Amino acid sequence: MTKVAFIGLGRMGHGMAGRYLDAGFDVAVWNRSKAKAEDLIARGARWASSPAEAADGADAVVTMVADDEASRAVWLGENGAAAKMKAGSLAIECSTVSHQHALDMARELRGRSLTYIDCPVTGLPQAAASGKLTLLVGADAADLDRAKPYLAPIGDVIRHFGAVGTGTVFKLINNLMGAVQIASLAEGVAMAEQAGLDMNLVAEALSTGAVASPQVIRHSKRMVARDFSGASFTAALRHKDAAYAVKLAETLLPGVPVSRAALAAYEKAKANAPDDDEGQMIEIVSRPK
Ligand code: NAP
Repeated sequence: MTKVAFIGLGRMGHGMAGRYLDAGFDVAVWNRSKAKAEDLIARGARWASSPAEAADGADAVVTMVADDEASRAVWLGENGAAAKMKAGSLAIECSTVSHQHALDMARELRGRSLTYIDCPVTGLPQAAASGKLTLLVGADAADLDRAKPYLAPIGDVIRHFGAVGTGTVFKLINNLMGAVQIASLAEGVAMAEQAGLDMNLVAEALSTGAVASPQVIRHSKRMVARDFSGASFTAALRHKDAAYAVKLAETLLPGVPVSRAALAAYEKAKANAPDDDEGQMIEIVSRPK
C-alpha cells in the first residue's frame, strides 16, 4: 500500500488527511496538538509521535501548516520529516509560505536527495474535506508527474505555474488581491451603514453587481449581518499571506500602495483578534476613531 505522511491537521489539513484515508492510502499523521488527530486515528490513520516518525518509510510527505516558521519546524526542526525521509521521496508543501521560504526548502531538501514541490491551495475547509481544492503547483514537469497520484485525492484542479516556487508566487498574489477586496468591501459596507441605506438591499446589490467577486459574494452578507460563525480563514492567516506577498512585491514591483494599505488593515485586524474570521474587518473599519 502506498504510504503517505500527513503533517498539520488544522482546518484545512484535517480534511485533506481524511481524503488519503478515503482513497485507500496507508496514512501516518502528526499534528502539534494530538487532539485534532483522534477521529482520523479512529478511521485508520497511524499516529506518529513526530514529523520524522510520520515520514519514516513514506513515499510522500504532505504538509499543511500555518506559516514559514511552522513549515521549517516540521521539515527541518528537531525530529523534522526530512530526517527520516527516503532518498528520492516527495516533499509536498501545501501550506501557504513565503516565496523565499519555498526556494530555501527546495534547496535544502534537494541537498538531502529529496524532491520538494510547492503546492499551495485555494478553497475553503469544506473543499479540503471533499477533495475539491485547486492546487497551485511549482515543480519541474517530471516531479509533478510523480506527485500526481498524491495530489489526486485532495484536488480536482491542478494549475502548474512552472518551476518550484511559482505556485507560491501565484498563491500570494491571489491572496493579496483577496485582502484588498475584503478590506475594501468592509469600508464600502461601513459607509453604506453610515449613510443609512437599507443594508439588506446593499448586500444583495453588492453580491449580484459588477463588483461581485467570490470574496465579495462570500463576505457581504456576513458583514452586513455581523455573522462570522464558523471562521474558516482567520485574520492572522490573511495578514500572513498579505505580508509574504508584499515582501515578494519588493523584489518585483515595489510601488504597490493599494496592497500595502490592505496589509496595514490586516495588521490591525490581526492585532485586534488574530483567530477571528477575516471578515471581521468590518468591526475594525466601523469602530469610531
Ligand atoms: P489552522 O486551522 O490555523 O491550522 C494551522 C496548522 O498549523 C495546525 O495544524 C497547527 O497545529 C499547525 N502549526 C502552527 N504553528 C505550528 C508550529 N510552530 N509547529 C508545528 N505546527 C504548527 O490553519 P488552516 O486554515 O488549516 O491553514 C493551514 C494553511 O493553509 C495555512 O498556510 C493557510 O494560509 C493555508 N490555507 C488556508 C485556507 C482556509 O480557508 N483556511 C485556504 C487555503 C490555504 P495546532 O493544531 O497544534 O495548532
